[in-house]
Amino acid sequence: MNEELRSNLVDTANAMNRSGINQGTSGNLSVRCEDGMLVTPSGMAYEGLKSGDIVFVDKKGMAHGTRLPSSEWRIHLDIYTARTDACAILHAHPTACTALACLHKSIPAFHYMVAVAGGRDIRCAPYATFGSQELSDGVLKNLQDRKACLMANHGLVCIAPTLDKALALAIEVEHLARTYLHCLSVGAPAILDDAEMDRVLLKFRTYGDQKS
Ligand code: 13P
Ligand code: ZN
Repeated sequence: MNEELRSNLVDTANAMNRSGINQGTSGNLSVRCEDGMLVTPSGMAYEGLKSGDIVFVDKKGMAHGTRLPSSEWRIHLDIYTARTDACAILHAHPTACTALACLHKSIPAFHYMVAVAGGRDIRCAPYATFGSQELSDGVLKNLQDRKACLMANHGLVCIAPTLDKALALAIEVEHLARTYLHCLSVGAPAILDDAEMDRVLLKFRTYGDQKS
């Protein structure tokens, strides 16, 4: 069932590690489907992953499949329940995002592209044990009006309408985090004010809309 979605999920999971934003068995990826979600299995490397290894989790949180679902299935399910704008969710441990998250730092409006995540900053959710409901609750709260947030002492979560867009957003946020870390290593970057970020957010509503 959902063969095309499963195979897209496997392809994007491999692309995520190839892009350099994730490694090993860290991270997880899911896509919304009818009656629930499809999510990567727990603790399995993506290389060699088959579509049959992908786990279907229904809306009640029951897993159906031969593999155990990602330990972060609660984060994925809670986001799909609360956010109709999310059809794909990516969690990874990218180096720069994770470094900032270990400092418990959010990413402020030091660059206009911070608006790519939907707001004037990219917040950092508080630390909680991986796989816990507490972690999911903190992530959901810090994703409010946003498409991405950092997770203290852990990593990054991004939500998007498609798997491709979730990966593109994660790569962009990791680039921002890397740039912000470079700034911090020299001094305190100038921060764009709220009025300017609101102008950018407005422009982003139509940015990239090409005449077909
Ligand atoms: P899973 O392999 O269970 O998805 O866990 C990886 C991870 O990043 C936990 O936060
Ligand atoms: Zn993780």
